[in-house]
Amino acid sequence: MILDMFSLKGKVAIVTGSNTGLGQGISKAFVEAGAKVLGVSRSPSDDTLKMLGEENFSYITADLSSLDPIDTIINTAVEKYGRLDILVNNAGIIKREDSIDFSVENWDVVMNTNCRTLFFLSQAAAKQFMKQKSGGKIIAIASMLSYQGGIRVPSYTASKSAVKGITMTMANEWAKYGINVNAIAPGYMATNNTQALRSDADRSAAILERIPAGRWGTPDDLMGAAVFLASSASDYVNGFTLAVDGGWLAR
Ligand code: NAP
Repeated sequence: MILDMFSLKGKVAIVTGSNTGLGQGISKAFVEAGAKVLGVSRSPSDDTLKMLGEENFSYITADLSSLDPIDTIINTAVEKYGRLDILVNNAGIIKREDSIDFSVENWDVVMNTNCRTLFFLSQAAAKQFMKQKSGGKIIAIASMLSYQGGIRVPSYTASKSAVKGITMTMANEWAKYGINVNAIAPGYMATNNTQALRSDADRSAAILERIPAGRWGTPDDLMGAAVFLASSASDYVNGFTLAVDGGWLAR
């Protein structure tokens, strides 16, 4: 039956940035679809744990601006749940500063977190999928700034444009192992990431006016796309970045 293709029953997922926002919503979606989820967060994911229950969700804390935690993350999922089927690279940061003054520090921390760790964590997950001979699903969280330039966020735009590109590279190389690599490009979502924009009355009004759906997105809006790309319903979808944006890019 078609809805069975969307089931994640028996699947094990890693979701980074699971303590809040979109990562919390994706963790909830996966548990509702039947998966066990290991969250990875810088701040403890206690709210998510409370929401989803310890039989379905556990977490470790890690700083993903460095590559150091990668082996621990993969090993913890495999030791705790016996296997790995899905990785969602959701953790990400944004630094806002005029390009003319943009600091090396704000460049490096964003590129390292949003792009460098995302690639090497994906590589480690793919090695685990290959060892299991099971195939697997890797989902990156991209952005509207995978397509557009943005304002005052050069390292974020660089990182998210790179995410869209390397999603295709990884998909091309690993499809033959049954590994699907895709991305979701959220539009403007009401989370901590956009707090500064939403607090700026002029920017907020300009953004809202441009969204055909007429509202900011929410973590719940991403749940369907995340489950689709994590499930066998997307087995022939490779290297695509799916916008969930209330029509922003269509405008
Ligand atoms: P958020 O509420 O700020 O969440 C960001 C998540 O990333 C948090 O869990 C955060 O942990 C984690 N994180 C950041 N740096 C980390 C690090 N060094 N190590 C470990 N975890 C780290 O924003 P969000 O909107 O849910 O963002 C999730 C993803 O969606 C990001 O990749 C973001 O770029 C992307 N995105 C968001 C929007 C939007 O409109 N909100 C649009 C497009 C794309 P802490 O809370 O502990 O910092």
